[in-house]
Amino acid sequence: MDNTTESNIYAKIIIDISHEQVDRTFCYKVPERLIGSVDVGSCVQVPFGRGNKVRTGYVMELTDTADFDPAKIKEIVSIATENLPAEDIFIKLAAWMKQRYGSTMYAALKTVLPAHKKQTTLKHKFISLRMAQREATEYLYECRQKNRKAQERLLAELLTEPEERIPYELVTGKLNISAATIRSLKEKCVINVTEEEYYRNPVNISAGATRRLNLSDEQQHVVDKVISDFDANIKKTYLVHGITGSGKTEVYIRMIEEIIARGKQAIVLIPEISLTYQTLMRFYRHFGERVSVMNSTLSPGEKYDQFERARNGQLDIIIGPRSALFTPFPNLGLIIIDEEHEPAYKSEQMPKYHARETAITLAKLVKDGASVVLGSATPSLEAYYRAVSGEYELFELTKRLTGGTLPEVECVDLRDELRSGNRSIFSRSLQEAIEDRLQKHEQLMLFINRRGLAGFVSCRSCGHVFKCPHCDVSLSEHRGGKLVCHYCGYSEPVTRICPECGSKYVSAFRAGTEQIEKEVLKNWPHARVLRMDADTTKTKDSYQKILSAFSNEEADILIGTQMIVKGHDFPKVTLVGVLAADMSLYANDYRAAERTFQLLTQAAGRAGRGELAGKVIVQSYQPDHYAIQTAARQDYGAFYDEEIAYRRLLAYPPVAHMMAVQITSKSEEAGITFSNKLRTILEQPVVPFLDLDGSSYSFRSDNGRGNSNSNDISVSPSAYVRGSLMESEKPVIIGPAAANISKINDVFRFVIYVKSQDYAILTKMKDKIERYTARLIEAGQYRGYSVQFDFDPINGF
Ligand code: ADP
Ligand code: ZN
Ligand code: ZN
Repeated sequence: MDNTTESNIYAKIIIDISHEQVDRTFCYKVPERLIGSVDVGSCVQVPFGRGNKVRTGYVMELTDTADFDPAKIKEIVSIATENLPAEDIFIKLAAWMKQRYGSTMYAALKTVLPAHKKQTTLKHKFISLRMAQREATEYLYECRQKNRKAQERLLAELLTEPEERIPYELVTGKLNISAATIRSLKEKCVINVTEEEYYRNPVNISAGATRRLNLSDEQQHVVDKVISDFDANIKKTYLVHGITGSGKTEVYIRMIEEIIARGKQAIVLIPEISLTYQTLMRFYRHFGERVSVMNSTLSPGEKYDQFERARNGQLDIIIGPRSALFTPFPNLGLIIIDEEHEPAYKSEQMPKYHARETAITLAKLVKDGASVVLGSATPSLEAYYRAVSGEYELFELTKRLTGGTLPEVECVDLRDELRSGNRSIFSRSLQEAIEDRLQKHEQLMLFINRRGLAGFVSCRSCGHVFKCPHCDVSLSEHRGGKLVCHYCGYSEPVTRICPECGSKYVSAFRAGTEQIEKEVLKNWPHARVLRMDADTTKTKDSYQKILSAFSNEEADILIGTQMIVKGHDFPKVTLVGVLAADMSLYANDYRAAERTFQLLTQAAGRAGRGELAGKVIVQSYQPDHYAIQTAARQDYGAFYDEEIAYRRLLAYPPVAHMMAVQITSKSEEAGITFSNKLRTILEQPVVPFLDLDGSSYSFRSDNGRGNSNSNDISVSPSAYVRGSLMESEKPVIIGPAAANISKINDVFRFVIYVKSQDYAILTKMKDKIERYTARLIEAGQYRGYSVQFDFDPINGF
């Protein structure tokens, strides 16, 4: 009997190509010499395709049975040294993402392994004395006699603290000693040059100690409940609903302290935009060196090193946006998602995952499970709906701890202003208030909802809007008499005659940030103004610079888009003006009211943060709209009731689920035909209990690292369809239709929406489309198209 064939080990490998065509595992033989070193998660080199080009891949499974004729199976070439292996948990998380959001496994792996490409390690060099002290002193005299000045300087320095080592840079820099001199001293065995690896550290704040606050009863209750659950091995999701200034961050800090005391680590997600110096400082003051940060401005080396520090136990906390979720902590115990309602938590690339859902899944995957705490002053409808239904535990923080009171809110009807002949962008009320604050040397903020919409140019006579010929979005007027497209950059000169009706009443909708700045300076020439929008925050530090300048009272007025209303604390601000509150209500999607409510509430929360009472003036054309009314009263509950009724009526998330099938095509006609074909595929009945394609990813058992959590998740696709057949109603299919932006760069865009109570029905429908496109690819008939999925979409398409 031939023993060697029996002990063969095969690896199922995901190949490093982001293409639907290779979205499955490929079977390779593990050669004798690599048995034992290749494991699940290993990154390996394999020959691929007809040309046997060497590719990188991740091992998903090890097995002793070959997929097909063992004689034809290729061998793994080697272990790829430039990549770290993928941790078991992240492989599972990727498989879950692939299934839930639709993407290739490779794209999902890349998402959960954001810093797995090894980076060069940095080293500090040091110089120390090698000779005995007496010998060195003699050598020093010798140098002095022979007038070897450089050597003499170095020896003198080394002899002042003979046991110490001196940083190399200090020697070459301050002591001005050449590398050649150092080399020669080393060769003569006078000195040692040693190297020490170190991690890049993006945190260069030296924070002082912090004073310890006594938590309020409300705060203490949240901390106590989450931690006592944790100790009782109840790991679940909590939602902390608390107005700005109600002490949520303080609650996070205390919970993290407790978690760390239990030998666990914490991830704190913050939308990148509110990852401010102020917030970071609070964490650094508490946790010092044990906390680090992750954000898009870090170099690949810095990112890699933060993950290494986390892996090696040098960190307890990582703070960062979405991708910080994938920090490889050895013992993750807590995930906090601050401002959980922020759209930035949804990825816009495949897989289009939501950080909230992904965090909850990750928390179930880690050893012993982790707790998840969501926080917001204006929770997403999703989170609040689940909290109300008992899926999450809800806490309310009702008191503002900053001492300040909630601001007084005045709603101004812009139609009335026009009727009384006021054609300025500032209502009379706002003008008076600005005047008053400038006189009293108090600060104020002027907020406009959105940049893209503002500045669009239209004909007041016939309503013609100037649009980009390639992208079907309105052009914005910029300085220098140009109309510019914000998607593709197309520009054309401004004309003052309407091409449709020939009238002269062509003008821009004057409410962009630039326009506001101009108007302010026209009315109050001595006001000191800062402007914050996408234009003024292009460079790396500009955002922070503007904020600190305003914070240091270098300006009276801060004008800006949503960027200015996110979580900054300016105690001297006593007035916030919202210039066109309903602008975001015109946005063509079902979350328009929710977003408007959130923005207005946040904007209002900026006023009166300090000792001085604050006032908010909200200008709009529909002051009676419930989003504006409830925001003015800071009444989340009333808003939620109205909004959830609307969602229920129209079967929108969170009451139902929605899948957007996003199609692009280079030809409009082919795109329409293709989209219609997808619709007929979607219309075929779904068979929830069968996994037709059999391409689910399977994994080795988790080595007894059992998950004590009762809500164990399984990554098999059928996990989502349990018991769904009976309850589910028929899914509703809408479209295909031209997308909101029907064309970008001459590529046509279509969208089909599918709504269902049952998420599993939607993933089944997604799987059907994936199978269909895979067949087209095989037949070579998939040219010039793309199909993407967006579940419970947040960003328009
Ligand atoms: P949020 O994150 O909800 O906006 P913070 O945690 O930032 O609230 O708290 C707002 C302000 O109140 C901060 O300046 C903070 O230092 C202060 N604060 C928080 N908790 C307390 C407390 N228990 N006692 C006194 N001040 C507190
Ligand atoms: Zn016209
Ligand atoms: Zn364009």
